[in-house]
Amino acid sequence: MSPTLLLSGREASDKILVDLKPKIAKLDPKLVVVQVGNDPGSSSYIKQKIKSCTEVGMRSEHCHLPSTISLADLLSKVGELNADPDITGFIVQLPLPEHLQSHVPEIIRAIDPKKDVDGFGAYNLGKVFLSKEFEHLPPATPAGIIMLLEHYKISVAGKHAVIVGRSNIVGKPLAVMLLNRDATVTVCHSKTKNIAGCTLQGDILVAALGKPKFITKDMVKPGAVVIDVGMSRIDGKLIGDVDFETVQEIASAITPVPGGVGPMTVASLIKNCVHAKERQNR
Ligand code: NAP
Repeated sequence: MSPTLLLSGREASDKILVDLKPKIAKLDPKLVVVQVGNDPGSSSYIKQKIKSCTEVGMRSEHCHLPSTISLADLLSKVGELNADPDITGFIVQLPLPEHLQSHVPEIIRAIDPKKDVDGFGAYNLGKVFLSKEFEHLPPATPAGIIMLLEHYKISVAGKHAVIVGRSNIVGKPLAVMLLNRDATVTVCHSKTKNIAGCTLQGDILVAALGKPKFITKDMVKPGAVVIDVGMSRIDGKLIGDVDFETVQEIASAITPVPGGVGPMTVASLIKNCVHAKERQNR
């Protein structure tokens, strides 16, 4: 068997961002990242987002709101950002503090679809369902995974893709985006019986469940392409959903954690911001 290919999100995202630079210089888009409270994971992801924006020459702003903010005040901030013509796109970093958690759908719904650069709202998700051509502001992580596969020239058409996890921000939209590219898709979740029976069929296996090292070697088809979305923080260290050490022995290609899907999500967010600006200028 040929050696396992390491799917570096750092390498792929660097290339994507370099390619976006001229457009950014011309269009001058601006991204705002809204953080409510001080979740340590969120703080670190936001730092990365702002850093990447700076590196690529894109204006960005970190809007840090207190953890005690009321729903009404947060919605009013969203309204302000919607109305500000200088702001191309914005995201509300999840998770939100406990008192706002059940209001996430309402908060996402309040974001103007033209500025929804995380692609979480019903309008942008709905467009993803239509076809590849309508994926104008797709959810950042699934779009990042598609770009990573494209960067490494891994074809999807006719392959059996198995996704573990069905969240609205990763698993479900990724399933649709892979379907749009002619993959045959199976989606597993916490109620799936015999998960290994499913994962073993995957030519492409995506782990997006948030359970550290859940996917072990015996669950992977030899030669599979393995994408690890998981990011669990244990003792300050990021751990993926795949047992990388053993799975890399039989996979044909695999993403590391960190340095795999994470940087692709950031690149995808920046790409969405550029697209949003292009569409707003029409
Ligand atoms: P989520 O909303 O918690 O969804 C987890 C999904 O996994 C659910 O569909 C759940 O099933 C399923 N699941 C949980 N335990 C399972 C089990 N034992 N067997 C099979 N399925 C199981 O999580 P998420 O937001 O999609 O995130 C998933 C992971 O990706 C997390 O570690 C998160 O930090 C990471 N993530 C990374 C990035 C990145 O940029 N790298 C971006 C987003 C998320 P049910 O639906 O039945 O509950």
